[in-house]
Amino acid sequence: MKIGVPKERAAHERRVAATPETVKKLKALGVDVLVEAGAGASCDIADQLYVDAGAEIVPDPAAVFAADIVFKVKRPDESEMALLREGQVLVGQLDPYMNKDQVQAYAGRKAVAFALELLPRTTRGQAMDVLSSQANLAGYKSVLDALEHYTRVMPMMMTAAGTVTAAKVFVMGAGVAGLQAIATARRMGAVVTATDVRPAAKEEIASLGAKFVGFIPEGAATAGGYARALTPEEQAKQKEVVADHIKNQDIVITTALIPGRKAPVLVTEAMVASMKPGSVILDLAVETGGNVEGSAVGEVVVKNGVKIVGNPNVASRLAPAASLLYARNLLNFVTLLVDKETKGLVVNREDELIKGTQLTDATGAVVHDAFKSA
Ligand code: NAD
Repeated sequence: MKIGVPKERAAHERRVAATPETVKKLKALGVDVLVEAGAGASCDIADQLYVDAGAEIVPDPAAVFAADIVFKVKRPDESEMALLREGQVLVGQLDPYMNKDQVQAYAGRKAVAFALELLPRTTRGQAMDVLSSQANLAGYKSVLDALEHYTRVMPMMMTAAGTVTAAKVFVMGAGVAGLQAIATARRMGAVVTATDVRPAAKEEIASLGAKFVGFIPEGAATAGGYARALTPEEQAKQKEVVADHIKNQDIVITTALIPGRKAPVLVTEAMVASMKPGSVILDLAVETGGNVEGSAVGEVVVKNGVKIVGNPNVASRLAPAASLLYARNLLNFVTLLVDKETKGLVVNREDELIKGTQLTDATGAVVHDAFKSA
């Protein structure tokens, strides 16, 4: 069995889906690994390091797609889609909700596609949870990125000339990314508040030493542990609480997402207008529609002196660390697909982690319940 690792070609994508460490472990599983030349360059991984770990370097995507299983960071582009073969396994962050036509296209090519974002958030799934590994880094980096645009200081500083007060940081959405942003801002000495709509988040915010601001609507957490979209009345109530708080904040980091839907708008134009010049808002949800009115992908929009930062693909801005964790997630996931005895491919639909992530099968069928009639 062979696993192929192409160089990622999407804009703003610097990560790679295997590292020398995971290549070595894949070889130990009895799997051969083909890595496209230069695939690790943007993570400071030279081809020779992959060779030393036991991989074969191949010159182009066509040679990579000769493998039985292809590891991707992002969904395949058009040229890669043309290389997908019947029965070939594709594993990656395929973003299926936003790319439903592509789910049909995997079926059209009879590829066996797995979207890792759909992995059930169970204890067993934790080691393969790409949303968590990447969101953790994105949450940390969002604080650093906000600071790049903040022209005051984060911690309180007592000097002979007087005291500089600590920055006030407000984190909106306290899932994996938000909690890491809270922890990072706290470590840097900020006074941190945070909001969410799930009851569990309220305790987690407090456990990190931040203060909860907001309100928890009835039944806002779904069975899967995710937030549901709020009703217009609930949204209005949330905005009322937030509007009063946000005008005194120096840095706002928004991370709120609803699986399968556009991100909720949490910061309105009026809220931005109420903030002090020099304040910074970082919209981590900018690529999924944005939590902040007026944010734009890849831009720093300035409104009345308030900077709204919309960096795309924030985890990729820490590509070596993000790849290290992502590659381990993939290694752990692929152990579910390799039969320990025969070393052959096995797709066990009885396994909830397989069932939860598999989009299509080798007969050309869409097998995931959420996309069957897409
Ligand atoms: P996410 O990326 O889907 O959303 C980010 C945060 O935004 C969430 O906390 C969500 O509640 C919040 N949010 C959504 N709408 C909001 C609104 N209108 N206002 C304020 N906040 C809003 O979330 P995530 O980080 O992927 O975490 C989702 C769930 O998965 C959580 O319950 C988390 O604890 C759980 N989880 C479990 C495991 C595990 O291994 N068991 C691992 C990771 C995450």
